[in-house]
Amino acid sequence: AFTEVPYSAPEPLVKVLNKCAKDQNPNKIDVTIGVYMTEDGDSSYVFPSVKQAKQELLVKDPGHCYTKMSGVPEFIRGSQNLIFGEYAKDGRVASIQTISGTGSLHIAFQFLRSIGYNRYYLGNPSWVNYYPMIESIGGEIKEYQYYDNLTHEVDFESLEKAIREAEPQSAFLIQLCGHNPTGVDYSKDQWRQISKLVKNREILLVIDSAYLGFASGSIYEDSWAIRYLYEQNHEFLVCQSYSKNMGLYSERSGVIHVVLQDTRLRDNVESRLVAIFRNECSFAPAYGARIGAKLLNDDYLNKIWGKDVYSVYERVTNIKRQIFNKLTDLETPGNWEFVTKAKGLFWFSGLDKNQVNRMMNEYSIYMSENGRVNIAGINSSNIDYFCYAINKVVSQ
Ligand code: PLP
Repeated sequence: AFTEVPYSAPEPLVKVLNKCAKDQNPNKIDVTIGVYMTEDGDSSYVFPSVKQAKQELLVKDPGHCYTKMSGVPEFIRGSQNLIFGEYAKDGRVASIQTISGTGSLHIAFQFLRSIGYNRYYLGNPSWVNYYPMIESIGGEIKEYQYYDNLTHEVDFESLEKAIREAEPQSAFLIQLCGHNPTGVDYSKDQWRQISKLVKNREILLVIDSAYLGFASGSIYEDSWAIRYLYEQNHEFLVCQSYSKNMGLYSERSGVIHVVLQDTRLRDNVESRLVAIFRNECSFAPAYGARIGAKLLNDDYLNKIWGKDVYSVYERVTNIKRQIFNKLTDLETPGNWEFVTKAKGLFWFSGLDKNQVNRMMNEYSIYMSENGRVNIAGINSSNIDYFCYAINKVVSQ
C-alpha cells in the first residue's frame, strides 16, 4: 500500500540543525531556530510567571477532562482582552482556541477557503512554513517584496502595489511584529496606509502574531495595529501564538480571532471555526491554555508576565547593541547599525550564502541559510567569537 510514497524532504534548516548537533567544536554557536535562550544558552528556560502558574495548577489540579469544544474559555477571553482591550466587550470578535500559531493559521486558511478566499499574498521573505501550509489546502500564493536588502527596511512600495493590484477575495498574510526572518516591521504610519489601501476592497488581512511583546518590550504597544484596524472598522483575522511570548512552545497554545463588522454574525462564524477544528483536532490541549489563562487574567501574574516579556526584549536589545559596537571596533567593512534596529529575536544579517556557509564550515556558527540570526543565541561568552567570525567572512 505504501510503495508509492516518496520521501518528503525536511526543510533546509533541519539539515543545518543536524550538522550542528554533530559538530564537536567547543566554540560552536547555534543561532538557527527561533526560540528564546538565556544568557547561559538555556532554551528550556521557563518564565517565572509560567513557573508560578504551574505551581498553582499543581495545588489546585483541574484534571484532564475534555474542555469546551471552542477551548478553555478563560484563555480565549483573556486573549481577546489582551489584544483588543476594551473593544473585546463589543461582541465583534469570534474566537476559538487552536494548536498554537501554526494551528491558528491553518484554521484561518480553512475558514477563509470555506468563504471563497483562497489567494494569499506573502511578503518575501517570510516564514517558510506559510508556503506548504497554503499549498496543502490548494491555496494560491502571490508574492511581493517585503524587505529591501540595501536599506535594511521594509519595501513598502512593493506591498502598496500588490494591494492596489490584488483581485477581490484576496488575503494578505502579514506579521504583526518581530518579523521572522527579517526583524523589520511595518511602522504605525505604514499600518495606517495599509488600512486605507484595503478599505472597501474585499481584501482580508490575516495578522500573524507570533512574537507579540518582543518587538518593543510592551504587549500593549506591539498590539497597537490590531486595535487600530479594529477602530477603522475592518474585518480581519488574528492568529495568536503563545509559543514564544509565554515560552509555551510544546504546549501548543494559541487562539484565532475573526473580527466582524456585524455582531449578529459572530455566532455563525464562531460555530464554523469550531466545526472546522472539531473535524480536524476535536479538542485543543488544555494545559498550556490554563497556564496562559492565569497569566492573562490574574493581575499579579499578568504583571510578572509583562516583566518576563520585557526582560527578553531587554536582553536581545542589549546583545544587538554589543554586536554593533564590536563589529565597528573590529573595523568590519560596511555599516552595521541596522543590527541595532532589528525588532525581536531575529537579525537578518545580510550575509550571503557563501558567507553563511563559511560561518558554518570554518567557525561552527550555525544560522538559517538566508542569514537569519536568532539573537538570543548570542551571550557574553560567545559574542566576541561570533563578531570575530563575521568580521573574517566579510573581510576576506
Ligand atoms: N508565525 C511565525 C512568523 C513564526 O515564526 C512561527 C514559529 O516559528 C509561527 C507562526 C508558529 O509558531 P507555533 O506554531 O509554534 O506557535
